[in-house]
Amino acid sequence: MTTLKSSGPAYAPTHLIIDLDAIANNYKILDVSSVQTPCAAVVKSDAYGLGMEMVSSVLATNGCRTFFVSLLDEGLTLRRILPEAEIFILNGLIGSEAEVYHEYRLTPVLNDISQIEIWSGSQISDTPQPAALHFDTGMARLGLTPVETQSLIENQLKLLRFPITSIISHLACADDPSHPLNKKQLEQFELIAKNFPFVRASLAASSGIFLGPKWHFDLVRPGASLYGVAPTANTPNPMCQVV
Ligand SMILES: *Cc1c(COP(=O)(O)O)cnc(C)c1O
Repeated sequence: MTTLKSSGPAYAPTHLIIDLDAIANNYKILDVSSVQTPCAAVVKSDAYGLGMEMVSSVLATNGCRTFFVSLLDEGLTLRRILPEAEIFILNGLIGSEAEVYHEYRLTPVLNDISQIEIWSGSQISDTPQPAALHFDTGMARLGLTPVETQSLIENQLKLLRFPITSIISHLACADDPSHPLNKKQLEQFELIAKNFPFVRASLAASSGIFLGPKWHFDLVRPGASLYGVAPTANTPNPMCQVV
């Protein structure tokens, strides 16, 4: 099954041909590579430009139950087509949109203390809505800093007014298996995870899956490799070509 994506001018001379079967195959390869660990899918940025709605439907048909997007709007679009899926919003809360998350059962990934406070403050019903927490262990892009992490674990965890469904961190150099930061981030994340004994932990994106089972924890969350991008530098690409 292939599909044609054309959102530009009607007579544009170039077309993008997307092989949805290849995406399904790549999902299976990643699911098998992560062995017992469930495999989520990152479909942010319109599934890396390939069309979030089509791609997500194919992934759901092939057994994917958990999806990550960056923005609330992406989550709302995804909710319309996948009423049962678990949907995480990586950028978390920006302003006063907590109610929308509640209404559409979207799970924010909280990236700093102020997002945690906003989510805590938004819990009004007897059934508090869950959130995920993102810890920065070396990527230095999103997530609680080591200082914030320490303070949260020591002082604030017991004050949270919502359940934590998952904790995540993101590897910075996983496409280079010999890079020392991989092990450092792994150890850092293991230490953090000890404070969350009954919470699902997720560290590996595409490249991390191929570092080995220690990096898999309870959920892996590939993006690029689903769409055919090689997960590891300077080695043959195990993924099927999609575009
Ligand atoms: C984009 C992203 C992913 C997916 O990464 P890939 O390298 O494309 O597999 C996973 N986790 C987070 C937090 C991300 O931002």
